[in-house]
Amino acid sequence: MTIFALSTPPGRGAIAMIRLSGERSSLALQSLSAKALPELRRASVRQLSDPLTGQPIDEAVVLRFEAPHSFTGEDMLELHVHGGIAVVDSLLSALASIDGLRPAEAGEFSKRAVLNGRLDLTRAEGIADLIDAESEAQKQQALRQMSGVLGVLYEKWRDQIKTGLAHLEADLEFAEEDLPGGLGQSALDGLEDLLPEMRAHLSEDRGERLREGVCIAIIGPPNAGKSSIINSLVGRDAAIVSARAGTTRDVVEVAMVLGGVPVTLSDTAGLREAEDEIEQEGVRRARLRAEEADLRLLVTAPDVELSELEGGSVKDIMKPGDFWLHNKSDLVSPASADVAASKYADGANYRHYTVSAETEQGIDDLLNQLSSEISRRFGLSERPSLTRARHRKALEEAVLFLQSAMDARSRGLELAAEDLRMSSRALGRITGAVDVEALLDIVFADFCIGK
Ligand code: GDP
Repeated sequence: MTIFALSTPPGRGAIAMIRLSGERSSLALQSLSAKALPELRRASVRQLSDPLTGQPIDEAVVLRFEAPHSFTGEDMLELHVHGGIAVVDSLLSALASIDGLRPAEAGEFSKRAVLNGRLDLTRAEGIADLIDAESEAQKQQALRQMSGVLGVLYEKWRDQIKTGLAHLEADLEFAEEDLPGGLGQSALDGLEDLLPEMRAHLSEDRGERLREGVCIAIIGPPNAGKSSIINSLVGRDAAIVSARAGTTRDVVEVAMVLGGVPVTLSDTAGLREAEDEIEQEGVRRARLRAEEADLRLLVTAPDVELSELEGGSVKDIMKPGDFWLHNKSDLVSPASADVAASKYADGANYRHYTVSAETEQGIDDLLNQLSSEISRRFGLSERPSLTRARHRKALEEAVLFLQSAMDARSRGLELAAEDLRMSSRALGRITGAVDVEALLDIVFADFCIGK
C-alpha cells in the first residue's frame, strides 16, 4: 500500500509538505498532474488538480525519489504546496481518492525505513528525539544517535558475543575431532573484558537525563526567598520554555534551559510541619520530589531560622554536591552569611553561595556555576551514552546472560552457549536486528504522523 501524510505541522504556513511512500507514488503524481513525470531528485513545478473533479488544487514543487534510494527505501514523492488549510485539505482528499493510496499511521515512514533496512531502531529513535529536542545538547545527542553511533556500539558488542558463540559451538560440535583444545574456554575468556565495558556504559545515566530533562528542587523554610530566587534565576535566562503550576499546591514548576540541558525547577514548600491531612500529603510529595531530584538548592536566610524539624529534614534530603544558597545577603554583613552553614556538621558537603534575590547580588555567579555543574553532570559526554529505558533494559539483560555464561564455564559449555545466545538476542533487540516486528509498535508508539 502506498501511504501519504502531511509532514509539516498542521495549520497555516508558507509551505506545507505532503509526502508519499510506496510503489504508486509516481502514479499518484500522474493522476494529479497531466504533465510528464519530472526527473528523479530534481525539484520541478507542477500544476496539481483533483483527479475526480479536475478542480485546480495548487501549483507545487515536486520531488521524486526511486527505491531503494529514499528515506523509506521505497519510491517516494514529496509535494511542496502553499501552506493553506484549504490547499492541504483538498490535496489530502484528492490523494485519498486515488486507488491504492491511504493515509499513513503515526511513525509509518520511519517504520518502513526500518523494515527496509534503511535505519536501525536506535537511529529511528534518534530522529524522534531530534524532532522533540528543545535544547542544544539534546539536539546534539539526538544527531549523534541518528548518525548511528549507538547502534554501531551495540552491534559491535553483539558481534563479539556471536563470534565467541560460534567458537563455542564449534568446540561442542567437533569435540571428538582434533580441533585445538579449549577453543570454547578461550572464546569465553575472550569475552571477559566485555562485561566491565558494558557495565560502565550502564552505570551512567547522563544520556537518559539529558533526553528527559533534569529536575532541580528548591527547598528551605517558608519565607527564605525560594520563589524570589526562582524568579531571579528565570528572569536572567532568556531560554524559558514554559511555566506551569505544579501537581500539588506545594510544588510550583518552572522549565528553563541551563548549560544546554532542559531543567525543571520545582519550588517545594514542603519542609514545614503540616497542620492538616491535605497539607501532610503535600509535604510528603514535596519531600519525595526533593529527594528524587537530580540536584537540590537549599535556600536559607538570616531572618528565618531553620527550625529543628526543618534542619533535620534538610540533612536527610540534601546530598553531597548540592547547592546551599544563603539568601538575603543584603540584610547582613558579608562575614555573617557563612555562619548558618557552620551550624550543620555536614555543611562542608555542599556548595555554598551567598546571594540576594532582592539586589541580585551573586545571582549571575550562581547561574554560571549552576549551568556549568549541570552541563558537567548531565550534558553531552565525549563517549556515546545510553539514552533510553528500552536500551537499558535490553543491556541489563545482555549483561546478566553474559555474566551467567562466564559463571557457567566450569559447569559445562552447553549452558554457556545458551547464555551467550540469550545475551546476543537481548543486544539485537536494541537495534532491531532480532524480533523487529514485535518491537515496532513499542518503538513507534510515540512518533507523530508524517514521520
Ligand atoms: P519563599 O516562601 O521561600 O518562597 O519566600 P519568598 O520568595 O516568598 O520571599 C519571602 C519574603 O522575603 C518576601 O517578602 C521577599 O520579598 C523577601 N525576600 C526574598 N529574597 C530577599 C532578599 O534577598 N533580600 C531581602 N531583603 N528580602 C528578600
